[in-house]
Amino acid sequence: MENNIKIHLPVEVEYIIDTLYSKGYDCYAVGGCVRDSLMGKNPQDWDLTTNAPPQKTKEIFSDMETVDIGIQHGTVGIVINKKVYETTTFRSESGYEDMRHPDKVEFVSDLKEDLKRRDFTINAMAYNRKDGLVDFFHGQCDLQYKTIRCVGNSRERFSEDALRILRCLRFSSTLGFSIEPETAAGMRENAAGLKKISAERISSEFFKLICGKDAKYVLRRYKDIFLVILPEIKPLINTKIKYRDYKGEIKERTLWQYCATALGYVQSYQEKNHEYALRGAILFHCLGSPVVEINKLTDCGFETLCAAVAERIFERLRCSNSVSDIAVCLIKNRSLEVPESKPAVKKLLNKLGYEKTFLLFDFWKCIYRGINVYEIKKRYLAALSASELLYEVVRNGECYRVRDLNINGKDLISSGVTDGKKIGDILNSLLNKVIEEEIPNEKGILIETAQEYILNN
Ligand code: ATP
Ligand code: MG
Repeated sequence: MENNIKIHLPVEVEYIIDTLYSKGYDCYAVGGCVRDSLMGKNPQDWDLTTNAPPQKTKEIFSDMETVDIGIQHGTVGIVINKKVYETTTFRSESGYEDMRHPDKVEFVSDLKEDLKRRDFTINAMAYNRKDGLVDFFHGQCDLQYKTIRCVGNSRERFSEDALRILRCLRFSSTLGFSIEPETAAGMRENAAGLKKISAERISSEFFKLICGKDAKYVLRRYKDIFLVILPEIKPLINTKIKYRDYKGEIKERTLWQYCATALGYVQSYQEKNHEYALRGAILFHCLGSPVVEINKLTDCGFETLCAAVAERIFERLRCSNSVSDIAVCLIKNRSLEVPESKPAVKKLLNKLGYEKTFLLFDFWKCIYRGINVYEIKKRYLAALSASELLYEVVRNGECYRVRDLNINGKDLISSGVTDGKKIGDILNSLLNKVIEEEIPNEKGILIETAQEYILNN
């Protein structure tokens, strides 16, 4: 491959490289930032690698803020314009007795040694302006052919650190790359090692993975590996269901394939926690219902059980309460009637709040989509209309909560009602009438209606 590749480095990165160079050290941008730059993407963060020992790096940048991120592993964070640039001394690793951490980390003087310890060829490239792209393991070629390949012997690399297995699946899912056959074989052979990896590390990779554009293929193709970290999915993998596809043909698939396909319909969300919750809920919404019939795919009445199993997974994966809470709510409400009128949408909004209602409609759209059975297709279309109604309610600032009423407790107290419970009852009754469009949300009419309520109750 030609090597007149130019990568645009941020000025802060150039500054760090130049400063180290002026003191006689080499320094390169390395790993994910080089990969992303070559793919024409904007890297999230820039990691650097240098032959300067960590203490020396600190000394050279002593007039700036530095953070000891992992001094014993060679990593110093250099803070410029409030951003941290991780600068790690070239190192080699050896002896991974526990399949998680190297027993020995050694600082080395050779960049190639440092690149050799990295997981995949596409992540093992370095760059600076002086030397251009340093690519000993043909990462550029693998990038071009959209391939994930281990640096070195895949069986050894995955047995050293089993987290690399999930990283490999994550990159395949997010980048849409295929996994080179030897690398895939190495993953499968070492999958059991994932049991030794901490829940936090698994979780971080897993949620990135399920948000990838190719998540559905990866989840389906490597189900045996997911089974190691998610033993609860076994019944899904083993249960075949018949379904009618969009052409009306009867086909067969497993429940796992169905859930992965449904997950593939989720759009990207700006609020990542919402996306994690929605995707997690879709993937795990059938866990308590291993055997269901074609028409009853989403109607098996096991919501509570499914939600409980999913909740246990979210807990084990150390998910935040907000992710788990939303996902559990979606699963518990999966069999509700899809609201078909504006009042029905407003009642659901009042019960679940905006975020969960919005997500529940998206959840329904995904789990009902692509199934050509009258009852289910009807629900899919109803979910589409419900989303439209929801937008309308929110866009127009229509009333769906007590606090949206143009009357409040104080107004009722002025009208002579002093009993707190009664105030609540009156407001709820008014809200109901406004939602049902029996009365408008206008103060005068609300007061009149409240007075009628007081007289009659
Ligand atoms: P992302 O875009 O998600 O940050 P990344 O490739 O930058 O992807 P990081 O976790 O930031 O991933 O790691 C930075 C670099 O460190 C990787 O590109 C890779 O070279 C190396 N690396 C990270 N984790 C491992 C690992 N488990 N084994 C070997 N090398 C790793
Ligand atoms: Mg990174």
